[in-house]
Amino acid sequence: MHSTKHPIAIEDSVATLNLTSFHYGAPGRGKKVYIQAAIHADEVPAMLVAHLLRGQLEKLDAEGRIKGEVILVPAANPLGLSQVMHGAPFGRYDLSTGLNFNRSYRHVATALKTALAGRLGVDAAANVALIREFARSEVAAWEPADNAATLKKILLGMAIDADIVLDLHCDNEAVLHMYTGTPLVDVIQPLADLMGARVLLVAKESGGEAFDEACSRVWWDLADHFIDAAIPPACAAVTVELRGENDVNYDYAQQDADAILQYLAHQGVLDIPTTALPAAHCGPTPLDAVEPLAAPHAGVLVFRKRLGDQVAAGEPIADIVNPVSGQVTPVAASRPGLLFASTAHRHLLRGMHVCKVAGTDSFRSGNLLSS
Ligand SMILES: [Zn+2]
Repeated sequence: MHSTKHPIAIEDSVATLNLTSFHYGAPGRGKKVYIQAAIHADEVPAMLVAHLLRGQLEKLDAEGRIKGEVILVPAANPLGLSQVMHGAPFGRYDLSTGLNFNRSYRHVATALKTALAGRLGVDAAANVALIREFARSEVAAWEPADNAATLKKILLGMAIDADIVLDLHCDNEAVLHMYTGTPLVDVIQPLADLMGARVLLVAKESGGEAFDEACSRVWWDLADHFIDAAIPPACAAVTVELRGENDVNYDYAQQDADAILQYLAHQGVLDIPTTALPAAHCGPTPLDAVEPLAAPHAGVLVFRKRLGDQVAAGEPIADIVNPVSGQVTPVAASRPGLLFASTAHRHLLRGMHVCKVAGTDSFRSGNLLSS
């Protein structure tokens, strides 16, 4: 094992910031796995899972049981973790620009479509190696204009050539759920089953260039472009939402860390005994079948349904109670589905996020992720 400190901001006149990564196993031998926690900074469940993974990976590495390479970044956003406003952590957006820390990653496929013209054939392994080489160069050539972009370049530089990318987050309040690419369902479903995910949201393109898609979508974008070349979806990248921001306890974290290690064992990365895969709690759901609900007016948010409940179309999920006007308005989904995530606030202004319901039939288009 070795650790690496990556400078993000090192100017003499302002605060200094570094990112730390931990490296296990050996590069170039077996699969490469990249795991990062809390790119939105105050996603504490993810950091606790990473802490437990770190202890286990150190032990397995010392015992020679890591057959590939594993990179762990246990706190992926030192910039966001340093942002506190009036006593409240504020890690989702870069305060200096207002930009979401999990958006606007460089999508290297655009440049690779030109650079690799005429160079890919029917040998899938050779194509994978060549695409990774060019993808690494493309990320290395990124010239970040600010500290947040520097951080994004460092993270993407470690992950762009990985076989497996686990991006650990949490929601405000939620049951465990995941986002991944539609072409990756078969390889990610076992992880969803091991972790007990209630929803596996899939899309070929979510919009906004989130981290997991910056790593994975390059493969099917290139496959769709170079239709005569053999290009597999060679990076299994997934965003894992580890329940809600206050679901921080050793039981959940141990359960999640054990499930991730089991997944890596099933993938041939770790030499540890494997257990049988548990029954699935869910199958894939199109991301464009998720209905986000918003407050119709200001008021107190009172839930009538619980996270994980199945709700019918038109069935009241919550009420918005305005204590001054006395107006009480139910909030309901237009389609049936599973209530899987909600705001942690209990007083909302008009238009603020209430909750998300995962249906079964696609109905949305455009940018499918929240801002
Ligand atoms: Zn997040």
